Amino acid sequence: MNIRSIEEINQKIQRGEATVLTAEEVSNLVRNNEEPKAEDVDVITTGTCGIMSGTAAIFHVKAGEPGSFKKARNVLLNGIPGFPGPCPNEWLGSVDMMVYGTSHSIYDENYGGGFLLNDIISGKDIEIEVESIYGEKIKSTVNIDDFSTARMIGTRLAFKDYTAFINPSEKLVKSIFNAIEMEGPYKGLSFSGCGELNPLQNDPVMNAIKTGTKVLVCGSEGLVMGNGTRSTPEKPNLMISADMFDMNPHYFGGFKTAAGPEVFNSVAAAIPVLNDEILKNTYILNEDITLPIVDIKGRHMPLGATDYASVWKNMDERPQYVPENCMDCNVCIVRERCPTGAYNETFDKKRCFGCGMCAYSCPYGTFEMKRGKIQFETDEGLIDIPIVCRQSDIKRARELTDELKKRILEGKFSISKCY
Ligand code: SF4
Ligand code: SF4
Repeated sequence: MNIRSIEEINQKIQRGEATVLTAEEVSNLVRNNEEPKAEDVDVITTGTCGIMSGTAAIFHVKAGEPGSFKKARNVLLNGIPGFPGPCPNEWLGSVDMMVYGTSHSIYDENYGGGFLLNDIISGKDIEIEVESIYGEKIKSTVNIDDFSTARMIGTRLAFKDYTAFINPSEKLVKSIFNAIEMEGPYKGLSFSGCGELNPLQNDPVMNAIKTGTKVLVCGSEGLVMGNGTRSTPEKPNLMISADMFDMNPHYFGGFKTAAGPEVFNSVAAAIPVLNDEILKNTYILNEDITLPIVDIKGRHMPLGATDYASVWKNMDERPQYVPENCMDCNVCIVRERCPTGAYNETFDKKRCFGCGMCAYSCPYGTFEMKRGKIQFETDEGLIDIPIVCRQSDIKRARELTDELKKRILEGKFSISKCY
């Protein structure tokens, strides 16, 4: 039975009287045996940030003067192929198109859709090349002001839980699930997921987060359109749409993997505490959330399992940069491997994703970071496997979750009524 309605919660939000906790604050109270009561809390904020391959954008953008071409057959943005249409925009000098976050530049193997989408919302200049249906080539430079539509569509975002990957074989494996080719046998583990902070981990049967729910996507208010592709009742995920003009580029960008550039983004969702059941679902703890371990090459059968406390508890969110340890190697392996380009001439902490690849790779300790290890049972007995690549960023997830809490407390974000 409900103890309050969405209307009552929204009235409290408007009056500045709502009590809002983040999912981690709830989990910490539970750890201290101080479980909050449904009467005492109105909204729980949750969030996640990670590689989310099901990310695309729909654009309408000026590409030339009116009359300069009839209709686009092909289009490139900074060398990234888009898909023109469905509207032809005959003789308007503009293009409707879809761009995938997972597409790769035809000019630069390290540049992909995630980096492009970040460059667009950052307001950078973008080279646009159109090939018309008659073979004419039209080139120009555009920026965000030349886009009249820029909307992100996430076909599969914010999975309830994820998977960790290892390589049991001797051979290197190239995959999107690690920043470099995965070494084996059992040399390292990569994983995704923000555990007890994750939206659907706190609402596993989707009592609160459902079609029509308003969410915060990379800082922009978006909507849940329904279940994402490959969503199941046991392992749900969300299809989400949000306007890109209001997005904060900090939360959205590219991430290089061994199989080419991928895209990361960030989602925060508010769970209204309408009843005890909704609140009790948020009592989930990292130590109770299973993280299945699979073969990076097979992915179907779990080879073992760990939990989210083993990968996040007492770990560093970011590496510590120790420049005095740097030996100025001829080729800097960290520069080559850093998935976000956070280490180039200097260490750009704001671009850092906290993946840990620098600390794993630098032979001289220029980057130090507590990343942890997990225990894994093999035919030869129990072994330790170090965590080499985190494909979720707990720091950004916390920041967006806190941002959502702040907006609710300031009366700037209300709860959508889709019950
Ligand atoms: S690999 Fe490490 S020591 Fe060598 S140049 Fe890069 S940061 Fe410096
Ligand atoms: S943790 Fe290291 S490798 Fe990963 S993004 Fe940050 S600087 Fe780059």
